[in-house]
Amino acid sequence: MSSESSYWNPVLETLPFVTIRALQLKKFKRIFSWAYDHSKFHRALYDKVGIKPEDIQSFAHIRQIPTVEKSMMRDIQGKDPFPYGDALCVSLNEVTAYRQTSGTTGQPVYQPDTWQDWEWWAECWAQLLWAQGYRPKDRVFIPFGYNVFVAFWAGHYGAEKIGCEVVPGGVLDTRARILKIQELNATAMMGTPTYMLGMADTAINEMNINPADLTIEKITCAGEPGASIPSTKKRIEEAWGAKVYDHAGATEIGAWSFECTEQPGGMHVNDAFFLVEIVDVETGEIIEEPGVRGKMIITAFDRHAQPCIRFDSKDIIEWDAEPCLCGRTSRLIKGGVVGRTDDITKVKGVLFAPSSVEDVVRGIEGLGNDYELKVEKINDREKITLQVEYLHNSSEEIDKIKSKLSDQLRLKTNLNYEIEFCRYGELPRYTVKAKRFKDLRK
Ligand SMILES: [Zn+2]
Repeated sequence: MSSESSYWNPVLETLPFVTIRALQLKKFKRIFSWAYDHSKFHRALYDKVGIKPEDIQSFAHIRQIPTVEKSMMRDIQGKDPFPYGDALCVSLNEVTAYRQTSGTTGQPVYQPDTWQDWEWWAECWAQLLWAQGYRPKDRVFIPFGYNVFVAFWAGHYGAEKIGCEVVPGGVLDTRARILKIQELNATAMMGTPTYMLGMADTAINEMNINPADLTIEKITCAGEPGASIPSTKKRIEEAWGAKVYDHAGATEIGAWSFECTEQPGGMHVNDAFFLVEIVDVETGEIIEEPGVRGKMIITAFDRHAQPCIRFDSKDIIEWDAEPCLCGRTSRLIKGGVVGRTDDITKVKGVLFAPSSVEDVVRGIEGLGNDYELKVEKINDREKITLQVEYLHNSSEEIDKIKSKLSDQLRLKTNLNYEIEFCRYGELPRYTVKAKRFKDLRK
């Protein structure tokens, strides 16, 4: 691929949308037949409702196909063949990669991939990195643990596929990683938003290095919604003097979405590789219109070892009405992944998404990056407490910050908070994904 092209795959990325839809239907039928013919788990699921591959002739038929929950994948892991269970569509000899989910919501799910599946992962990443301006001249530093979790393995292979020079930041600690970036003049980096802010803090406070003086030009964030939360994105961009782009993917799904260099306030869905459907959380009805939030049901068309067909991702998203200026014809989801059905909850009768608090906290100058949120029930009354760290010492400034924070929170979330101010460094620090919201009502 010439470095001059705006697209990694100029054909697929600019197909007229009607052609993409026709392609999606064709590819859906292909992966459905594959799973039906090769996996006991899938055949039993579809036989139960009497759907056969030849029944699928339109998107209306697709909507009648049962969804798959993460808990179902967990349940089959006790079955043969060990350790994956009977959703496996290939022989164990063909499996070349093992990964597992992080297990933050229960027992981890094991994920097998064939070499071909892995090549597909790399292709999805190559496409998204190219859209984020990665080119062969880039030297990409990847500061993650290289272990059983999928992120950022595929980012590593995708960057290599483009022709970037990849520096694996493996077991180095944060300081050593910063020194390596400095030594090698790395131009790009991947990480969770929490870790990107944490690295910047370490550089400034412990090493007297201003990360903005280093050579990082772009950062791909994943694993948390942060890079689509405007104030978090701004903080990472300012700290590193770099552009920050969001990406969402998952172990059981693949790399399904990405922000492009236009930074359109949302992410492209890789429509040629995935079918993304949005459904109403309560009724299960398909949502087609822009601006209406629902949860994502997703199918990966080209993953063969353990297929992902109408998987209930629990991610909350909404369609954007506007096309992107970058010229890609794939659809945009507005504001990225705004939360998960697991952590969007009702507090005092109001629908509450913890990510909206993050946007407020990080939008206020004088507050640190870290915060903690908890909801508890005291004598039948729900109380929501927010702990934040202040950076200034004058009590006058703190009072001003406090009243601004309180006003903004009420405006953005329709709730009143008990606000506790802590000194810088008092709150917990997270190295990968942060767990800042605690629901103590259960
Ligand atoms: Zn775009």
